[in-house]
Amino acid sequence: MIYDGFELDSKGRALICPRCSNEQINGGEFCKICGVTIINKCSSSGYDTYKNEPWECGTIAEGNARYCIKCGEKTTFFENELLKAWDVEHQEKIIKNDASDLFSSPQKTVHISDEDLPF
Ligand SMILES: [Zn+2]
Ligand SMILES: [Zn+2]
Repeated sequence: MIYDGFELDSKGRALICPRCSNEQINGGEFCKICGVTIINKCSSSGYDTYKNEPWECGTIAEGNARYCIKCGEKTTFFENELLKAWDVEHQEKIIKNDASDLFSSPQKTVHISDEDLPF
């Protein structure tokens, strides 16, 4: 199963805004039309009190990644609900596959002759 996602450039930036479908993405990190983040990356960040500096994981994720492959935290696309929860999509794809199986399989017709009927 391959999960749906968005097409990204080599820097992890969406080619088309994943929320409003704005096609004018000219750099930056956020869509100029709807303000959503257009880079799918790890959202994990915090403050290191030992080093006394903020940190962030910042790992660039693939277009369909819900979670960071390095630390397991949510990605920006998933946090912004641009990607469906995996279990929701999983369910949808199973239903779709079942439906297409039914459609492609030849209809089995059952013939009942008059003699088989009890009246
Ligand atoms: Zn947008
Ligand atoms: Zn991470």
